[in-house]
Amino acid sequence: MTGAAGGGAILEVHALHVTYESAGRAVHAVQDASLSVAEGEAVGIAGESGCGKSTLARVLLGLVPAGIAHIRNGRIAIGGVDVTGFAGRDWEQVRGQPVAIVFQDPLSFLNPVMRVGDQIGEAVRRHDSAAAVPARSAELVDLVRLQRSVLRRYPHELSGGMRQRVMLAIALGCRPRLLVADEPTTALDATTEAEILALLRELRRELGMAMLLISHDLGVLRWNCDRIYIMYAGHTVESGATAEVLSRPAHPYTRGLAGAARLARLPDGHFAMIGGDVPRLERPARLCPFLSRCDAAMARCREAMPPALPAGANGHQARCWLIAPAHREAI
Ligand code: SF4
Repeated sequence: MTGAAGGGAILEVHALHVTYESAGRAVHAVQDASLSVAEGEAVGIAGESGCGKSTLARVLLGLVPAGIAHIRNGRIAIGGVDVTGFAGRDWEQVRGQPVAIVFQDPLSFLNPVMRVGDQIGEAVRRHDSAAAVPARSAELVDLVRLQRSVLRRYPHELSGGMRQRVMLAIALGCRPRLLVADEPTTALDATTEAEILALLRELRRELGMAMLLISHDLGVLRWNCDRIYIMYAGHTVESGATAEVLSRPAHPYTRGLAGAARLARLPDGHFAMIGGDVPRLERPARLCPFLSRCDAAMARCREAMPPALPAGANGHQARCWLIAPAHREAI
């Protein structure tokens, strides 16, 4: 389930399987997940908490705990470079340039005892000369629509939205071709969230940068991403053009997720929700991971894992036996 829309791929993930292992126990956080992002494209990953979307984002840049997180299968290529076996300082080849990342909570990632200007300067110095730092730092705060006086301030003196803009300035300091944004607006109020998302759209237009936006909020992804991947229990279960996937979801989980995201109440006064529980991830799934919660499950679902199948226009795919040709003929 890949399918970047035209252009060369800046990111390709194929059949990735990631486990966390400690004290003889394992959690299969990402299982057989595939995705791609073309140069300049905006791609979203959606799913509930614990579906593996943040692990997937972090493993791309080696930001998972060494010795605990393991890539058990699959391949990751960034800008054509196979990074699957990278360790330690290998990651310096791709971190910042061509890929940078911003996280949900900037306060946890900014150094509280360093002025903002020094932190932006550190990022600039990785790819520019020391002499270029003052001018480039000023250029970066202009780019994220902050006043230059911010360079002399400490993170605790800024609002949440300003801190997220500082994180963006640091990320952009290395001139990335792909920005990974892991729930970048979840900790912000609605007005600031809208401002940061508008800024991301403007920056992508100005810089021609691709973006991988991770969010549990389908509304955020609908308005900001060309294509979308839906993750469930570590698997990429559906993908395609965002409007197509969200208006004509083919996988029962995506239908449930879209229904739960609606603000309208059901006739009984409750909000829609997906019944049952997310499966435990101690063992790799052999069958459809949504089987235990799926109202549409049939005999075939208890026999084999569904492959990624064509589900509609523009590369729309879903991993569900409901859309298999043999099933279509039978109904
Ligand atoms: Fe439901 Fe079967 Fe489709 Fe899984 S493969 S989502 S169990 S119908």
